[in-house]
Amino acid sequence: MGNGTLGWLRRGSSKDEFDPDDIRSNCPDYFDEEMAPAHEAKFQSHMNDCPGCSTFVNIFRATVVTLRDLPRPSASPATPTAAPAHLS
Ligand SMILES: [Zn+2]
Repeated sequence: MGNGTLGWLRRGSSKDEFDPDDIRSNCPDYFDEEMAPAHEAKFQSHMNDCPGCSTFVNIFRATVVTLRDLPRPSASPATPTAAPAHLS
């Protein structure tokens, strides 16, 4: 099991057939490129046949691109190194 940048969205579905809910739960794997080739083929095949899921994936893609373009917050935000003078 990989641990891509979108792992926090993953719900662990491993069924062979997709329904709309599976498309949603599999989106993180799809965009992290961690999906097995055979699995990805079914995912794409379903999108081709299902306008609803195709639309969802397009929206998801746009959201992922937006999130990845955001600057990452500093790992260690500024913290006071000393108590304010009136507390010492
Ligand atoms: Zn669908």
